[in-house]
Amino acid sequence: MSPELQSEMEGFEHALLMPVQFDVAGQCAVCEAAVAFGVDFQWSFASWNGQPVPNWRESLSCPKCHLNNRMRASAAYLLANSGPDDVVFLTEMLTPLFTTLERRRPYALVHRALTTDVHILKACSCMPCLPMTS
Ligand SMILES: [Zn+2]
Repeated sequence: MSPELQSEMEGFEHALLMPVQFDVAGQCAVCEAAVAFGVDFQWSFASWNGQPVPNWRESLSCPKCHLNNRMRASAAYLLANSGPDDVVFLTEMLTPLFTTLERRRPYALVHRALTTDVHILKACSCMPCLPMTS
């Protein structure tokens, strides 16, 4: 067997043994609870030997708040640096980040120009969000 074919076969067999997803135990700063963060290989990249490496920034999803690592860091920062009566400006309302912050910061503002939802109850008053007048 050629070295190239041997290497290809080993890579194929290793891929069969790799889990599609796995859990990592940790503490969710938003839920303030011990959880098993879900890790998958979506948005992963190949290491020097061709083996997939999880995209840790876009993975490590909390099973309770459903925030990935990047969004959880943003939510934790905003929650730690604001109070329940503070106004928090959000640029979207489609992700678990919005759901999490809306529940804990009732005065959250949403940039209306970046959404298609007509049920926005709270909208900021920046120029794109102001009603058009002719
Ligand atoms: Zn959480």
